[in-house]
Amino acid sequence: VPAKRIRNFSIIAHIDHGKSTLADRLLEFTRTVPDRELQQQFLDNMDIERERGITIKLQTARMNYNYNGEDYVLNLIDTPGHVDFSYEVSRSLIACESALLVVDASQGIEAQTLANVYLALDADLTIIPVLNKIDLPGADPEKVKREIEEVIGLDTTDSVLCSAKAGIGIEDILKTLIEKTPPPLAREEEPLRCLIFDSYYDPYRGVVTYFRIKSGRIQKGDKIRFMNTGKSFLAEEIGVLAPTQQPTDTLEAGEVGYLIAGIKTVEDARVGDTITHEAENRRAPDALPGYAEAKPMVWSGLFPTDAADYDTLRDALSKLKLNDAALQFEPENSAAMGFGFRCGFLGLAAHGRRAGRGPSLSACTRLEREFDLDLICTAPSVVYQVKPMKGEAYFLSNPSELPEPTKREWIAEPYARLEMITPDEYVGPLMELAQNRRGVYKDMKYLVEGRTTIVYEMPLAEMVTDFFDHLKSRSKGYASMEYSLIEYRQNDLVRLDVAVNGEPVDALSFILHRDNAHGIGKELCLKLKEIIPRQMFKVCWLSAMVETSRGRRNCSRNRLRARSA
Ligand code: GDP
Ligand code: MG
Repeated sequence: VPAKRIRNFSIIAHIDHGKSTLADRLLEFTRTVPDRELQQQFLDNMDIERERGITIKLQTARMNYNYNGEDYVLNLIDTPGHVDFSYEVSRSLIACESALLVVDASQGIEAQTLANVYLALDADLTIIPVLNKIDLPGADPEKVKREIEEVIGLDTTDSVLCSAKAGIGIEDILKTLIEKTPPPLAREEEPLRCLIFDSYYDPYRGVVTYFRIKSGRIQKGDKIRFMNTGKSFLAEEIGVLAPTQQPTDTLEAGEVGYLIAGIKTVEDARVGDTITHEAENRRAPDALPGYAEAKPMVWSGLFPTDAADYDTLRDALSKLKLNDAALQFEPENSAAMGFGFRCGFLGLAAHGRRAGRGPSLSACTRLEREFDLDLICTAPSVVYQVKPMKGEAYFLSNPSELPEPTKREWIAEPYARLEMITPDEYVGPLMELAQNRRGVYKDMKYLVEGRTTIVYEMPLAEMVTDFFDHLKSRSKGYASMEYSLIEYRQNDLVRLDVAVNGEPVDALSFILHRDNAHGIGKELCLKLKEIIPRQMFKVCWLSAMVETSRGRRNCSRNRLRARSA
């Protein structure tokens, strides 16, 4: 297909604003899938979602559409709809030339939409506002247009009114897409550069990589090289997603496709990496900009309640890792908890946003369900930075490895910029929530009548467990949030140990602000008293101890009664 007939676009929307429904309508209208296959939303297949876990993106789809007598190819490149994946969203967006900004006309813009629009603007995309759900009696497209103009500064002259559900405005959207999306640059004579925007592990075919060709052309059987990892493979199969995989022989600059090359783990086909040719005379001189390696931000200990399950747990984690380049784990051995693993996860909420749980817990639940395991997960911890008295500052993900107070100069913790968008009446409760979590107030703006955005800088540690749940409950579900990491800041942080009969249980140690240590230590002890398997101990004392410059001090002490044998 000549580049001038290709349009690559993505859809930006807040959850529930109608992205999947609209994608289905586009596929249906362009006859990419026959109607009966749409009985369940084709692109948003829940089974795949479950199988692939939290890194799922909607599938990419190629549509053919005849407009004014010309045949066009429209590639819908989807983005993960989750705050934790802003890097992956940004890679998907730079694979496109435009984005449909879908906003529920009865709701208005939400925090996550706003954040993704800024990523799209950074990537120089043309943004086409789409006011969805105009069939609803509460829809006020003019008000939402005003919001888009005032808050984002976008011209809404070319915006489209639609109802994805009722099938209104779909043809208009296709027409606007073709007219307003710039075609890709025709650079097929330059060296090959493909941007990877997604990859997943298929147990039968190995890793399937989705890419957008920025320059050059790729042929079936080519020897290829991943420029950032330096690994080489043979392009056994390439093809397009129409929307199921259809093999082709050649793909050229501007096109979107998939690749199968005997790759064994998604770590070797990382999002953001550049594919070029292996032969030195055909290699691109440099990789596409913006590559970054996903690093876990939150760590937690996982221990099988039955020591015999250790190997099953290791296998289960290895399996998850095939599909999650950011997941890391290492063996951890604790006197009280036995053998287990310390696991690092990418985001703060993972898929817990819907389940209302922290990352370790969601991963925990998944492991338990899929691999029939019974696990204990310790509280999630962020990655701290520590400066020892002697030597350079370093990063630390396991609180039990923190040097004693006399052997360290300072501890720093990651801060995030947090943006909340809420109806006015919840501003007070949300500010109180942020203040209770050591948030530093930065800014507040009125959007349109009745809606406000509030910005805080907040320690990530205060957000990792249940912040999102509290935000939702304090705003009756109406507020939305978005965050991005900004920097490390030194604080008066201390380690809290939990001890059984005076012996600290290293796996339960964590780092927190000194001001919170006593309250949280007490609370934790009371909770643990209920949870700790009593058969493990005869009669014992459970205590929480906070470090001070002169050693540890008890902040709570509880007697555990043994269950009668
Ligand atoms: P997503 O989370 O952005 O993918 O949103 P979905 O496409 O799953 O839609 C969320 C809900 O809104 C579903 O119950 C849809 O049926 C509904 N919905 C989507 N588009 C429309 C629309 O145009 N009108 C109305 N009334 N409901 C819609
Ligand atoms: Mg959806």
